[in-house]
Parts: sequence; structure tokens; C-alpha cells
Amino acid sequence: EAKWKLFGVHDDLKLSFNAIQVLKERYLIKNEEGEVQETPKAMMKRVALAVAEADRFYGQDVNESFEKFYQLLTSLEFLPNSPTLMNAGTSLGQLSACFVLPVEDSIEGIFNTLRDMAIIHKSGGGTGFNFSMLRPKGDQVSSTGGRASGPVSFMRIFDTATDVVKQGGRRRGANMGILRFNHPDIREFIRAKNQAGFLENFNLSVAITDEEMKRVHQGEKIDLVDPHLQKAVSTVNARELFDLIVESAWKSGEPGLIFLDEINRNNPTPSLGLLEATNPCGEVPLLPYESCNLGSINLSKMSTDGKIDYQKLQRVVFDAVHFLDNIIDINRYPLPIVEKMVKANRKIGLGVMGFADLLCQLGISYYSDQALQIAEQLITFIANEAKLASKELAEQRDVFPNYPKSLHAAKNLPFRNATLISIAPTGTISLIAGCSSGIEPYFALIYRRFVLENTELIEINPLLEKQLKVLKIEEKIRKSIWEKGSLKDIDGIPEHLHSLFLTALEIPPTFQVQIQAVFQKQVDNAVSKTINLPNDATPEDVGQAYFLAHQLGCKGITVYRYQSRESQVLYLGTGE
Ligand code: ADP
Repeated sequence: EAKWKLFGVHDDLKLSFNAIQVLKERYLIKNEEGEVQETPKAMMKRVALAVAEADRFYGQDVNESFEKFYQLLTSLEFLPNSPTLMNAGTSLGQLSACFVLPVEDSIEGIFNTLRDMAIIHKSGGGTGFNFSMLRPKGDQVSSTGGRASGPVSFMRIFDTATDVVKQGGRRRGANMGILRFNHPDIREFIRAKNQAGFLENFNLSVAITDEEMKRVHQGEKIDLVDPHLQKAVSTVNARELFDLIVESAWKSGEPGLIFLDEINRNNPTPSLGLLEATNPCGEVPLLPYESCNLGSINLSKMSTDGKIDYQKLQRVVFDAVHFLDNIIDINRYPLPIVEKMVKANRKIGLGVMGFADLLCQLGISYYSDQALQIAEQLITFIANEAKLASKELAEQRDVFPNYPKSLHAAKNLPFRNATLISIAPTGTISLIAGCSSGIEPYFALIYRRFVLENTELIEINPLLEKQLKVLKIEEKIRKSIWEKGSLKDIDGIPEHLHSLFLTALEIPPTFQVQIQAVFQKQVDNAVSKTINLPNDATPEDVGQAYFLAHQLGCKGITVYRYQSRESQVLYLGTGE
């Protein structure tokens, strides 16, 4: 009723205020007057119908699949990435969230890629680039005799184009910019985002090898190599360079790291080339021109009576793999070359969201050995079931075309998809599903949002809300929770309740890295996780997290120190 009044959307899925608002603004189909034309349920139907259509190509039962997918979506047990929810069954029809584009060292190459980026952004996708092939600032340009301006200045053009091209009018584009640790312009790259307002549509990561990490550890020298001249132009102390990265990440959260060797050890198709870049949030390493469809299982719906319901989880994994494989066939690709690459490898990225909620339902603190065990059991189960599902699809529909060239063939594992698992941030889809995002701990237990000028909505973590009622926590205490956004140092809160509802800043960064690493072990793509540090964390804490991530076999790492940027996405509590 209230949601109808506020947003003019009939809430037929019992979603939160935040979910309805976001759906109305960006997902639900509108007519030319901007009036909403579908309910949330109708949106799910549109998506399920479009995705089930792919079954027709294989002589399978479209209706049966529609019923399965419709149930999967309306129960909020699984949601695909945003472009699929927005675009499936519409004339745009572009369904992937993640793309990687190559950047060649020529004006023609750079501007071709810029054009491709604009087309992808317009369709709703995010793009990742490795700029390491570009010759450094000051190098000679042979055709004109002029001087090159270097990777960072070209990145500014990509950034500006991103600003200008709004995605189907619904969201700004997102980019990942990557530079090799040994590129001569690495210092400029590391500092690029310390300037406010600079490269705001980019996440930055430095790509580093195991050998370089070893040299960092031992304080040894490395050569900075000009990729164009293919020769060393200077020598630097690896540790000093690494410290610059750490210091900058401490200041602004960027750059993160990408561990190139670990990524390529898990490259299913090494004969097609090295994996040198990821999508914007880092969860999918891709070859140039590949895209990937993501989808996430809502773990907050996977337990009954304090126990994980593995039978249900198994069904959801099978249906989700089927769903994501179908998307590859019905997707409208923004570029023909992307279609060719994607259909040859058929990569998908099935992940999870609501991990923190699930732990809470099981009565387990996120910061505990038990949480690590649950994480391992869960993701091992999901990865194994996804393999079985992909194998079953291969029997019905054939293996992916590049299979004979893949490592899976060498191991005699006939899969439909070159990769299967990926843990996305689920920034918006977790909000729609009303669960915690990805594998993150709770950031805050309360969210405040202003809608329609002066209406303020406060949403409390629904699991906490329930507990507060059961425990008859009084209004005064609730007020302090609102202000703080966490249960830390609040009188009258039982210790076990606090430990169940720890927020990210109360969980040591090294433990957060451990959680990421446990997931990563079973994930063939990568894991997106922000290692959150309190404002008073030191650069050494950041360095420690970076080292540990490498040591534990993560594919990359991103940190964020609370309030290290002037404006940030999430704030704790409603405090004065
Ligand atoms: P969602 O919850 O909206 O499906 P995620 O937060 O899980 O999306 O992000 C998944 C991926 O989607 C990101 O890694 C990135 O590749 C892409 N993405 C996210 N936000 C944007 C954006 N504003 N523009 C373009 N791509 C985006």
C-alpha cells in the first residue's frame, strides 16, 4: 500500500522499499510518458520467458523451463546480473554484465577500443582493459616524430567517454583499468586516483607476477620495461614500488592488485591466449572480447531450521546453470566479435549472495572458524554440482566449441561451459532480493535513504529486527543502534547477538582475506570482495592484507579504508 503510494508500483513480490524504488527507477519497463508498465512479478515473467526460449534450439521443453525459471526468480532464490533483469525480452536484449577489451599500442587501435567500449556501455555492460601494451609517456611516435602521452592520459579519454555515454539511460558505465607492475608509467598510474574527480569511472589494479611479489618480499630490484621498445628503461626497488601502491590504497582504496600467475594457472583455454584483464569488479578474468553472464544464488533462502538445505541448493544450482547457459544463446551481443568469442567458450559465472545472512540463520558468527568451514563446504558443493550440471548440458547440447583445445579436454571432463563459478559483488541484485551482498559481512545494520524530497526510509537488517523483537529490546537501545549502525559498545545487547551481527569494520582484514581465499579455492573465475578496514588502519595493515591475499591464492585484492575518500557509497548508521 505505502509502496504503491510512494512509487506507483504494485508490490506483488513483497520486496523492500529500497528494492521497489530501485526497480522502478531502472528495471521495470516504462512507457514513453515514463509510467511503469510492469510489476516486479511481470518483470520476472518477461525474463523467464525470454531465457526459456533458448531451449527451443535444442528441442527441449520451453514451457517446462519457463516454469522452472519463473519459480527460481520469483522465489528470489537466484537472480541474474542486472543487464539480464533490465534487458531480457526487450528490443535491446543485451544481457551480460562483464566484458574485456584489448588495447593496442596505436591510435587506431585505441580509438577502435574506445568505440567498442561506448557501444558496450550503452547496452548496459561494464568493461575491463589492460593498458600495459601502450608505450610510456615521452616515447617517440615514429609516424609523426611526436611524443606519446602514455597509458594514463589515454585512460582519461576512456573515462570521459564513459561519463558521456549513459547506459540505456539507466546507469553510468564501470571500468577496470589495469597496468603491469613493470610498466615505466606505473608510478603515475598508482597515483592517478589520488586526485579527486580523476578517473572516477575506473577501478584500478596493478597486475603483478609471482616473481615480482618475491622480489617485493626480498626488497630486490626489477626492471621497468618499455612494451613498445621491448627493453628495460630503468631499474627500481620492487619493495619501494609496492609501498607506493600500498600507500595509495591506504589513501584512496586504489589501486588493487591482480595476481597474474594465479589467474593464468586457472585459465581453461591457455592456447587461446593469456588472461590479462578482468571485468570492473574483478570477479571475471576474461580474454579480449569475451563477455560473461553472472547470476547469484541467494543463500538466505537456502536454510531451514538452522540447517543448510542441500537438496534445495542442488536444484537451484542445476536450474541456474541451465539459465545462464541459455543466456549465451538468446543474448544480443553488442559486437559480432564478442558473440564469436562468447559462443566459443560459453563462460558463465554462477555465484552467491546472502552469505552473511545464511551464517546468521545458522547461528554462526562471520568471524569464526565455523564460518570458514561453512564457506568451504558450501562453495565446494556448489562448484561440484555446477560441474555436474554443465556436464549434463554437454550431453544434451554438446561441449563448448573450444573444448578440444581446453584443459578440460586434457582432463577428459566434458563441460558445456569453459568456466562456471564467479562471486560477484551483487551490489544491486542483493538489494532487490533483500539479502546481504555477495560474500561480504554486513556493512551496517541499518540503511537510510531519502525518497521523494522529504520522505526518509530507514531499513533495519530484517534478521536483526526479528531478534530485537524476540529479545524484547527496548526503544532506547534501538535508537542507539540506528545511530551507530552496529551493535558495538551498545549497552543492553547480549554478547551472542553482537557476535552474530558483527559489521565489516569489526572483523579483522586478515580474516576477511581468509574468507575470500576459502571461496577462491573452488571458484574457477574469481571472487569480488572488498576488504574493509577501519579509518585508523595503517598502511602496514593494507600491505599485510595484500601479501596475505597473494600467499593464500587469491586472484586479486581490493581494500577500502573507512572514510578515506571524501564521499563513499556506504556510511555507518544515521549518526548526527
Ligand atoms: P548487479 O548487482 O547490478 O547485477 P554487481 O554489483 O554484481 O551487479 O556487479 C557485477 C558486474 O557488473 C561488475 O563487476 C561489472 O562488470 C558490472 N557492473 C556493475 N555496475 C556496473 C555499472 N554501473 N556499469 C556497468 N557495469 C557494471
